[in-house]
Amino acid sequence: MRFRWGLPVGIGASGDNTVKIADNCVVAIDYTLTDDDNNELDSSAGGDPLEYLHGANNIVPGLEKALTGRAAGNAFKVTVEPEEGYGNVIPDLIQNAPLSAFQDVGEVKPGMQFQAQGPDGQVRIITVVDVSGDTVAIDGNHPLAGQTLHFDITVQNVRAATPEEIEHGHVH
Ligand code: ZN
Repeated sequence: MRFRWGLPVGIGASGDNTVKIADNCVVAIDYTLTDDDNNELDSSAGGDPLEYLHGANNIVPGLEKALTGRAAGNAFKVTVEPEEGYGNVIPDLIQNAPLSAFQDVGEVKPGMQFQAQGPDGQVRIITVVDVSGDTVAIDGNHPLAGQTLHFDITVQNVRAATPEEIEHGHVH
């Protein structure tokens, strides 16, 4: 009996099985994020890789740029300045609010986070920095604003996004 080989799934006719990261790819990465002093800020270690839709602003611009053109199996480090990360600290977003504005909350403590509409109308996460008497110091900057970000990345998987994922702008 004659046996005819089909092309193995996932390998193209050229023998090149690397899908390069481009817009409308769903990318799975393992990552560790550290600051300038080598403190770990965030990591996927011990959990699932982070999956995101490339080209849809799901991750900070500097990291997205560094991932463009990479493929599964690539490991690399990249330093992302605040302008390409979570932005610079905007002093106007650090304000004092009256404690009475938090009357629904119960006890207000430093470190608590709330959603609030900022001066630009955009919904932001605000963090309580300090509580002193009837005054609450709040910061509407992203907690990582102003930080230089050091990413250690391993690309685990790259696949084409579904039409629905592209339409929604995120991974399903
Ligand atoms: Zn969706």
